[in-house]
Parts: sequence; C-alpha cells; structure tokens
Amino acid sequence: MSTRYNYDAIVIGAGHNGMVCAAYLARARRRVLVVDAADAVGGALRPIDFNGLSVPFAAQLDYGLDRSLVDDLELSRHGFSYAVEDIGSSVFNRDGSRIDYAMSNDDTRSLAGVSKDDARQWPEFRQRLIRFSGIISDIARRSPPRLGGDSANARTWLAIALKLRRLGRSEMREFLRIGAINIFDVLEEQFENPTFKAAIAAEAVLGHHLAPRSPNSVLTLLMRLAGSQGKIALPRGGMSALGAALQSACESRGVTFRMNALVRRVVIDNDMARGVELDDGTIITAPTVISSTDPRTTCLNLVGADHLDTGFVRRVRNIRSNGCTARIDFLLDNLSGFAAASALGLKRRLIYAPDMDTIERAFNDSKYGRISAEPLVELVLPTMLDASDRESRQHLATALVQYVPYQMIGDINMARDTLLENTRNIAELMLPGFKSHITASRVLLPTDIEHGLGNHGGHWHHAEIALDQFFMLRPVPALAQYQLPVAGIWLCGAGCHPGGGISGVPGRNAAVRILASVSLR
Ligand SMILES: Cc1cc2nc3c(=O)[nH]c(=O)nc-3n(C[C@H](O)[C@H](O)[C@H](O)COP(=O)(O)OP(=O)(O)OC[C@H]3O[C@@H](n4cnc5c(N)ncnc54)[C@H](O)[C@@H]3O)c2cc1C
Repeated sequence: MSTRYNYDAIVIGAGHNGMVCAAYLARARRRVLVVDAADAVGGALRPIDFNGLSVPFAAQLDYGLDRSLVDDLELSRHGFSYAVEDIGSSVFNRDGSRIDYAMSNDDTRSLAGVSKDDARQWPEFRQRLIRFSGIISDIARRSPPRLGGDSANARTWLAIALKLRRLGRSEMREFLRIGAINIFDVLEEQFENPTFKAAIAAEAVLGHHLAPRSPNSVLTLLMRLAGSQGKIALPRGGMSALGAALQSACESRGVTFRMNALVRRVVIDNDMARGVELDDGTIITAPTVISSTDPRTTCLNLVGADHLDTGFVRRVRNIRSNGCTARIDFLLDNLSGFAAASALGLKRRLIYAPDMDTIERAFNDSKYGRISAEPLVELVLPTMLDASDRESRQHLATALVQYVPYQMIGDINMARDTLLENTRNIAELMLPGFKSHITASRVLLPTDIEHGLGNHGGHWHHAEIALDQFFMLRPVPALAQYQLPVAGIWLCGAGCHPGGGISGVPGRNAAVRILASVSLR
C-alpha cells in the first residue's frame, strides 16, 4: 500500500457497478474513494424526490442482480432483502384483453387466451431458452479472454466450449441456428397467438435499440434470461434500497464517498494515471482510476484523445450508445374504488404489446426521430408491489416506454407531451380509470438520462448490446478486458462486459481484473 497517493484507487461514479467494484477492492484491503457528481449514491437507482415521494432516478425492477455478489458483499447484513422475488406479467392487446404469463415458470394455467398448441409448446420452448441462457450466463460472468494469450485465456475458451458441448449435438445446432436469426422468426416458428409472441419479443428488446426483426434479438433475450432465469424482483424499500445497501457494504469496508463531485479529467503523467481532477480544481491522487461512466465519455472526455491512439479514438467515437427508453412516473391518489386495480391486484408487471408488428412500427418511428404513436410500455406500481412500511396513501406508477429517439425531430417539449399522452392512453387501456387517479407526472427522455447520469446517449447499457459490441468486442476490442491503453485506467460500468441492467457483474469482473493486475501499485 503506497502512502505517496491519497488512495489506492478512485472509482468515478457511485452507480451500483462503481460501488460493487469499490466494495470488492476494499475487501482486498485497498484504500478506495468513490466520487460522484450527484448528491446521492445509486446512479440509475439514486433516490430523487417526486412530489414528496422518493423514487429511483431510472431503474424500476431487478431483472437479474447477480446473487453471488449479494452473498460476497453480505448485502443482507446491510439491510438488503426482497419484497417480491418473482413478479408475474400480463401482456395487453389493443382491445384491453390480456394474457398472464411469467418467463420464470412453465405454468400454463395462467396462459388463458392462447391456443392449446401454444400452451403445449410453451414449457419446452421456455426450458430450451433457459438452457441456452445458461451458456450466455456463463459467458456473462467471465471476464472476456484475449484471442491467443496465456493459459488462463485458453481455460476460459475451453470452459465455454465444454458448456456448449454438454448441450448435445442437436441442441448445439439449434443454439447456433436461432442465434443466427432473430426473435421474430423464432417466435413465428413456435407460436400462433400474436400478443403472446409480442410479450416474449418485448423481453428481448426492452432496453435495446432493436426490434423483433433486428439481428441480435435472440442474444438480447438470452442475456435477459441469463441473469435470473426470467425472475423479476423488487427489493424491499424499492430499487434505491439496493444502492443504500451497497453504500453501507462499501463503508463497512472503509470506502470513502465524495458526493457532489464532478470529475473533470483523469490526471495523467508520463502515460500513467495519477488521480482525478474535480470540477472545482481539486486534485485527488491514486495510481488506479476506475470509471463507471460510459466508455466514450471516459475515453474522450475524462482521459482525452491526446493520450490515445488515433485509430482507437475513431473506434470509441463509433460506439453505438443512443438510448431509446424513456421513463414516465405517475403519482396516483388514493386507489380505493379503482376497480381495474383491484381486479388485477396490481402486483403484476403490465406490458402493452398487441403484436410484434406494433413493436416493429414503434421502432421504425424512432429511427426517423419520431415519438411512436403506439409504443411498447412496461408499467408497474412499485408501491403496490412493496406495500411494506407505507404510510402515504399516494401511489407511484412507473412506465418504461419504447421507442423514444435520442435525436428527435421537432420541438422536444411537444415530443415530451405527446409521449406522456400516448403512455397515459395505453395505461388507461390496460387499467380503465387510471387517468382519473393521476395527480402528477414526470417524463425522463434519453437526453434527460444522459444529463442526469452523465453518460453519452442515455442508453440503458451505456453501449448497445450487439454481436460486434459483445464479450471480447465490448465495447471495442481494445477495452474488452476493462483496461484502457493508458496504465492505471479501467472501466467498470454497464458499457463493459456483460452490459447493463442492475446486475453488478461489470463492477465485480473489473475488480477481479484490477486485483490480478500489477498496475494497482
Ligand atoms: C430509463 C431507464 C430505465 C431502466 N430501468 C432498468 C430496470 O428497471 N432494471 C434494470 O436492471 N436496469 C434498468 N436500466 C438500466 C440500468 O439502469 C443501467 O444499466 C445501470 O444503471 C448501469 O449502472 P452503472 O453503475 O454502470 O452506471 P450508472 O447507473 O449510469 O451510474 C453511473 C454514475 O456515474 C456518475 N458519473 C458519471 N460521470 C461522472 C463524472 N464525470 N464525475 C462524477 N460522477 C460521474 C453518475 O452520476 C452516476 O451516478 C434502465 C435504464 C434506463 C435508461
């Protein structure tokens, strides 16, 4: 441990990945500082005030937090637990009819409305997806190897090959076949019911800048299932509670936090990281600097093109990271007498996706900078899902809405109003009477997310997930091992492998790499 520096490592960003990385480093007895521009920890989980109610800045559900890191970091000792561990879903058609389903189980009793054939196909199809997602899960948890390289790299390749081999010949062939087509074609082969197909396609595209007919949409579905085999959960106290537990886990291991501290640049001397400079000119020193903001911002703004090779800069500039998901919060008054709410129990996740073509058309609109008239919507009422310790009679409904273009044509405030109105209408269709309970709303466009989290494009994954930005190529080949070409600078956020969502895996993988490296001097 060096005393020449203020800290052994500085983590830029107190999002969940930054904190996971910091906690693992501190567990290995490193002196760690986490700096964040915001006034509270959590990044997308950060609590913000919405008309007197505390709500997470962006993320609304846990689709796949890595449970091994919950154990490693003893998060339960820091107050973390689940209010609900397996939330069921309902998908709605245009006429308000719905199909209940869960990606986490084979129960066909709830699949009322689909044909007998579809119901018969579902368990086999789902189990196959879960088997295939096991391969992806294995890849996701590993730090990407280098092509060639040492025996550790060779072991990683061997382990992946063995896992594939264990599928057996015909399943391996099917894995490679469906991976090469798209989720639209896969679902067309399997099922008849258009709304049921759209429900599964929605899982593949949520958070991604792609539609069911796009390449890579099978990969993104398998990624989604890889985290928790289709279970969708909500922590007790809401998503922000995970941020608080991570902060407590970090602090118990000696991590220092400095909030309201925007990092202006990474200080580099002699081609080596020496620390960070804050916006107010303060310099804090450390031989290792780890950034959880997106790779493009890290390389081009915080490190600077002057310190990087021209070819590398060009590749980083071309990372695709334009977001397409908006979040809309609705504050609802006392829900008593809300018939639709009590009929559904409102303890479900409601998806509006009449058919796959509707999703595709919504995507097409966004490609040309337009707000889609009939977007894909995921609506939940977190205060109904987790009613623990609630005194307020007010309720929160949150909607994730796609596709909302990062670059809009026309007036942005008009676009905001249109999006709000379209989403309100869809919520009303799913829950008749919804509109009359709204007392306030908040719209977060990709540009607002970019502004609020400091990541270029406001993308869910900080960089799109596609085969050319995945695993050893994520976000670009030269950054796939979490390390920048300048000594002592690392990435640990959603922009690196395996990508975004609240999983914590990029943060942990980065910490493992950093601890194994000689550059934590
Ligand atoms: C609208 C929307 C909804 C989403 N909903 C869900 C969901 O329900 N479930 C789910 O699993 N995933 C969801 N996601 C994705 C998920 O939120 C992200 O993938 C995840 O937050 C990435 O975590 P992170 O720690 O890597 O980065 P972030 O959460 O983005 O945190 C980065 C942190 O770095 C800080 N920072 C950036 N630049 C600087 C700087 N220069 N100086 C100091 N600090 C800086 C920021 O303030 C921020 O706190 C959603 C994403 C979006 C856009």
